[in-house]
Amino acid sequence: MSPTPIVSTYSMWSLFRNCRKAVDWRYLQQLVPLEHDRNLHFGSLIHECLQAWHERRDLAEVLALIDKLCPKRLYDEGQRRDWHNATAMMKAYTARYAVEEFEVVALEKTFQGPIVNPATSAASRSFVLAGKVDGIVRVGDDYFLLEHKTASQLDADYLERLWTDFQITIYAYYVEQTMGITITGILYNILVKARLQQSKGETEEEYEARRAELLAKSKTGKTTAKRKLPETDEEFQERLAEKYTDPAMFHRETLYLSRDRFDILRSELWELTKAFLDARRRGVFYQNTGFCFNFHRPCAYFALCRSNGNPNVIENFYQRVEPNEELRVLPNDPTETAF
Ligand code: SF4
Repeated sequence: MSPTPIVSTYSMWSLFRNCRKAVDWRYLQQLVPLEHDRNLHFGSLIHECLQAWHERRDLAEVLALIDKLCPKRLYDEGQRRDWHNATAMMKAYTARYAVEEFEVVALEKTFQGPIVNPATSAASRSFVLAGKVDGIVRVGDDYFLLEHKTASQLDADYLERLWTDFQITIYAYYVEQTMGITITGILYNILVKARLQQSKGETEEEYEARRAELLAKSKTGKTTAKRKLPETDEEFQERLAEKYTDPAMFHRETLYLSRDRFDILRSELWELTKAFLDARRRGVFYQNTGFCFNFHRPCAYFALCRSNGNPNVIENFYQRVEPNEELRVLPNDPTETAF
């Protein structure tokens, strides 16, 4: 009996292409950092909000969801920042898109299918590909994948780079196979994060230092300076709401799919499976140090690589987590169709 194929995701293949060592840490040694990346927390929070909104279009429910997902906001600064930003963002988003030009067909749709050798059409016995798309929508007779993105900055470069989003293109192929529909393109739903900070006000010492400086410059020996107080939650929400009235904070971009790209990406995926099996057989997952700071911050495994996998570093900064946790829903999802 042949072994059950490994359920792989495009995230794994993309990581393998970028740095094989990172795949070894994450997928073979099953390590993830204990400290969560705050940008990822905000991104998944907004994804959940958008799913709830597009499902039932109930703003009160969305705001309650944000409260629930930021339970430590009263004392955790990161959560408070996410709560403020998400609350203002979703209030503005729901007002901006009160009426949609598309009809929602499915949300958070999962799929699973074979990885096929393009030369022989034989399916890989080692891997299947599984994934999840944010949504499938219909505009007239055309179906589009709906893809949510939270961006810190939206410019021409950002939009240009969407073309390189291979994951969604290959997912479109699998959704077509699973659901028996033709996907015309991708509708990117981009929400820009406000970069505002809630003002903390001045400490007594800071105020005294500023006051002394003003007095030294004053010809009358007096100053009307008052201590700057922390910005209240209401004041900060007002400032954020004002920011989100800027139309540039939300953007929809449609990309039409080319059938040729499906073929290129399917054969690349096949090549990646071959390279992975070879690396695993030989036990060689080399480092690509050119990728360590790719996202303008160190890779999640930087501490591990720098210490050559020191067990103390593993024990103190990482935990073991099964791969593909984002797809845990798959085996029990009764709506799932394997093909
Ligand atoms: S730190 Fe650099 S070499 Fe190590 S896994 Fe990350 S990207 Fe690869």
